[in-house]
Amino acid sequence: RYYLVSSFLMLGLTAVAFIFLFKVLRNQRLYSQARIAFTGNMTHELKTPFAVIEAALDAITRYQLSRDPAKLEKYLDISKAQLNHLNLMIDKVLNLEELDNGAMKLRPELFDVQQGLETVVDSMRLRERSMGVSIDYIPSEIPCFVDGDPVHLTNVCYNLIDNALKHSGEQAKVRVSCSCDPTHVQISIEDNGPGIDRIYRERIFERFFRVPAQADVHNVKGSGLGLHYVKQIIEQHHGSIEVKSVVGKGSNFIIKLPAYHEA
Ligand code: ADP
Repeated sequence: RYYLVSSFLMLGLTAVAFIFLFKVLRNQRLYSQARIAFTGNMTHELKTPFAVIEAALDAITRYQLSRDPAKLEKYLDISKAQLNHLNLMIDKVLNLEELDNGAMKLRPELFDVQQGLETVVDSMRLRERSMGVSIDYIPSEIPCFVDGDPVHLTNVCYNLIDNALKHSGEQAKVRVSCSCDPTHVQISIEDNGPGIDRIYRERIFERFFRVPAQADVHNVKGSGLGLHYVKQIIEQHHGSIEVKSVVGKGSNFIIKLPAYHEA
């Protein structure tokens, strides 16, 4: 009898060990697949800022903008914003772990949200030259300031507008707006893309997660890191991000940040 019980026990333990090993191996395989996809996608992501900078420099020389200081400054600002973005993407890869455990260093200062949004929208308009694409910007009637890291917050906006454009395709209509009250600043980025199924609305903020491609919907290059980064940065600024979406109609990402108050 004792022999029977111990055999069953051994059998049970072996089964548990096998299941455990199977799960570990499966997770490792999924993780390494995600990393391989990530490297390929990242190459594509890094090329975009280069294309914008190239277009800006091309415009400066072609239209001899040195004679038009205001326009020259605008195009140089766009190039600078893109260089910041490149820098941040490189940091994103180097600091994956830091980002995950919330140890990323922020350099907060008085940040004019509307000015940041305008720079990003201008830079995206320069990049998007397809006829059907439009980016509307509806500013707030009053100034909106937060105590935040300008580089990271600008990049948060860049990521969300970039997503809205790339997932909505050639007929993308993106509406960016900013509003504020004494306690909060709200940024909204709305698109007419494929929308995000309810079952994925939490998961899109996980690192490397991308909605599985179905019938050419969500079949767009990307890293699966953008929204993970966005959420971490917003939470480190004591803000929140939510997504409203109707499949087949579009998505709306809404960020709320505490408004700036003098100490
Ligand atoms: P990616 O680089 O793949 O865009 P993100 O982390 O920014 O990575 O987004 C994760 C996934 O969420 C995307 O792969 C896509 O499936 C979905 N997604 C993000 N933004 C949108 C959007 N505006 N419309 C539809 N799907 C979106």
